[in-house]
Amino acid sequence: MDKKGKLIVFSAPSGSGKTTLVKHLLSQKNLPLAFSISATSRKARVGEKNHIDYHFLSPREFQEALDRDAFVEYEEVYSGTFYGTLKSELTRIWESGKQVLFDIDVKGGLNIKRQFPDRTLAVFVQPPSLEALEHRLRKRGTESEDKIQQRLSKVEEEMAYAQQFDQILINDDLEHAKKQVVQIVKDFIDS
Ligand code: ADP
Ligand code: 5GP
Repeated sequence: MDKKGKLIVFSAPSGSGKTTLVKHLLSQKNLPLAFSISATSRKARVGEKNHIDYHFLSPREFQEALDRDAFVEYEEVYSGTFYGTLKSELTRIWESGKQVLFDIDVKGGLNIKRQFPDRTLAVFVQPPSLEALEHRLRKRGTESEDKIQQRLSKVEEEMAYAQQFDQILINDDLEHAKKQVVQIVKDFIDS
């Protein structure tokens, strides 16, 4: 865990667009980034691939990983659903000479920042409005109505953490936001 790589964290309420922005960053060939593939106890959505989008674990496997102290951080992001960053991900990525890019919840993001304060850039992605966020979540069409409600009910709590991040990026016009994230990350990697 002591290899001196950098960590770039993207956190936001669900539906803000952080996954879209993280994927855009990963598509930039000139940025030495690799995605921290989290473990989760939730089931894969249509189109998601095991060991690419997440390491999909059963609740029991997740508990076993916890017992082995395999996580840098983990959270029960939604009631009964766990997500965590495996220590082995950081080692794997730093050993490949790249910097670690995270798409994790606000508490997990700030936890990473606390553990690696001098080498972490923590970015909070903010939707232009709650209405826009709800519209995006519905349009994405990946969640049932009660999962949408569960996500919406957390937004206010999550927004309250925004000021603790290094940067707040408002994702209104997507093309503009994409340009902004590339610049922010480039500046941090070069610093
Ligand atoms: P998150 O990872 O924060 O939950 P996603 O990246 O999945 O969010 O984005 C939620 C939905 O909103 C997706 O369908 C995505 O295509 C769309 N989206 C992302 N950014 C914008 C934007 N600036 N304007 C309109 N739609 C957007
Ligand atoms: P989703 O189910 O939409 O993929 O993700 C739900 C939430 O869990 C998102 O806010 C996502 O960023 C967060 N998340 C994903 N992986 C991790 C992780 O490893 N740790 C933490 N703390 N949150 C995570």
